[in-house]
Amino acid sequence: MGDLLFAGREEIEAAQAANLAETMARIAAGHPYYRRVLASLGLGAADFRSPQDLARLPLTRKEDYMREPEAFRIAAGDLPEEMQAVWDVMYTTGSTAGQPTPFVSTSFDFFRILELNRNMLRLRGVRPDDVIANLFPLTPRPHGAFIRTMHAAASMNLRVVAALPGNPSPSFTLGHGLDEVVDIVSRSRATILWGVPSYVRRVVVRAEETGADLRPVRLAFVTGEGLAEPARDELTAALRRVGAADAWVSISYGATEMQGGMVECAPGSGYHNPAPEQFHIGIADPATGAPVEDGRPGLVTLSHLRRTGTVLLRYALGDTSVLSRSRCPHCGSWTDRLVAMPRRADRLLKIKGTLVNPDVLVQAAEGVLGGREFQFSVARDAGGDVLALKIAAEGGAPLAERLAQSVKQACGITPVVQFAAEPLADPGRAWKAKRVVDLRD
Ligand SMILES: [Zn+2]
Repeated sequence: MGDLLFAGREEIEAAQAANLAETMARIAAGHPYYRRVLASLGLGAADFRSPQDLARLPLTRKEDYMREPEAFRIAAGDLPEEMQAVWDVMYTTGSTAGQPTPFVSTSFDFFRILELNRNMLRLRGVRPDDVIANLFPLTPRPHGAFIRTMHAAASMNLRVVAALPGNPSPSFTLGHGLDEVVDIVSRSRATILWGVPSYVRRVVVRAEETGADLRPVRLAFVTGEGLAEPARDELTAALRRVGAADAWVSISYGATEMQGGMVECAPGSGYHNPAPEQFHIGIADPATGAPVEDGRPGLVTLSHLRRTGTVLLRYALGDTSVLSRSRCPHCGSWTDRLVAMPRRADRLLKIKGTLVNPDVLVQAAEGVLGGREFQFSVARDAGGDVLALKIAAEGGAPLAERLAQSVKQACGITPVVQFAAEPLADPGRAWKAKRVVDLRD
């Protein structure tokens, strides 16, 4: 893996400090949001000599970024062209207002994205003869999953086949059904299936049912939905029945704000920071925002050390985990790893990879139901997250359809609507019914 191993932590930290110094100078010159933060604290670029100094800044919350995404873009007129030119804009899949948030990459940033894509592939043990099947669907707005998978292939000069599952819009006519996708994977002799775990599973199960030839498949890269260990075991077993005898599943902890993800080099190895010279990963106390020592749980924070478009510092990704900076016992890399499955932490719920404000769910249901009693629940089954809406009344298909439409419009996720004859509140336990419950923990 060569350069991924680094000589050790000193080399990583020296690169982080040098890149942070350059970034802080650009921020002090032209980043509207952090210029305000620095001014309010009486700090300047020179006060940030190493990533430890980032602790001088308060946490940036998702809400801060969603409120004014343009204020998180560096606007310094004297930067070289590649540091100013907008290469592309990706969008987060959800937000408090239901409006996706833009994440802007300059040409310079895109070059860094290719580097981190290449590192992700190397950490996952990709070889020059691998063939990637891109199983992500197109989305109504540009999103990293489909697009960066194509770029990841470019970063290692690999072959990639985009299967284009489903149709995101009536105006899109090139989507494929499940059987066609299985056929595309089979005839392209793909060795890597890359998608959300629920869909990768559907492709593998269907291939087994139809006897399609998926024997070259040796890896599944999954991201965007949680995958508990029993579900991983099940997917691995199914993969080995249709594919290679030693096929395995590598999970990525991805984020739009990374345009990539922290990946496993082996099952259970922890999620490796694929580009520590670009990203400083920290853990913060949820109550105080203070840094938490390695090995202790807290909020996962991301600081961009080498970007010139959208730049975030001490940005809370919305999950809690535990950080290790010890050498990976599996691949030998010295890069930092999250060694506990990241779990949602803040008020926003992550459902099927989309951030959802519970208040928006409640408003969408109230708009249709008025004062009738209802409750949302989020559960997880083998197929991924399930959003259910239970109403304490009799109801028919037209009402269920209106509710499903209203909720989908508000948050992008279609709920399973259920009618129950009995009341939902349990007065013995709480003074009021919780309108949204998360049953996944
Ligand atoms: Zn490793």
